[in-house]
Amino acid sequence: MESIIKSMIQTFKNLVRRSVTVLYPYDKILVPERGRGLPMLQIDPDTHRILCTGCGECVKICPVGVIRASSISAEGKSKVKEFSIDISNCIFCGLCVQVCPENALEMTYKYELAEADLSLFQYSLEDLVEHARPKAREFWLG
Ligand code: SF4
Ligand code: SF4
Repeated sequence: MESIIKSMIQTFKNLVRRSVTVLYPYDKILVPERGRGLPMLQIDPDTHRILCTGCGECVKICPVGVIRASSISAEGKSKVKEFSIDISNCIFCGLCVQVCPENALEMTYKYELAEADLSLFQYSLEDLVEHARPKAREFWLG
């Protein structure tokens, strides 16, 4: 009998409790501060130079092998030649960001990445600098 009363009390509490779910995609919630979305390449705000040098450290650490990077030498410096991420297999672990010696990668809050065409998951160098600055979390609210 006691357990029935306890269950009824809990049921009643749930009936009047504020909902914790939203009707996505019509309603959206604020992405948690430590949320991790699409990794993006960063640019130097003063020189507009892509910070990535194509060193390949992120390629080595990526647990699912989705990053491709190569470099060229110009005026005694290493510059990124090609860079891409296959987002369809990225697990958003953030290891590429942590290992980068140039701080050239940032996890953004962009999480709406669904595509019907698999080829659209191949993010090129140009795609990855398009939104070069990390976006405010509010940006991804509907
Ligand atoms: S993103 Fe960073 S770790 Fe990856 S290739 Fe560029 S400079 Fe190297
Ligand atoms: S977030 Fe993780 S899985 Fe995605 S590209 Fe970076 S290292 Fe690879």
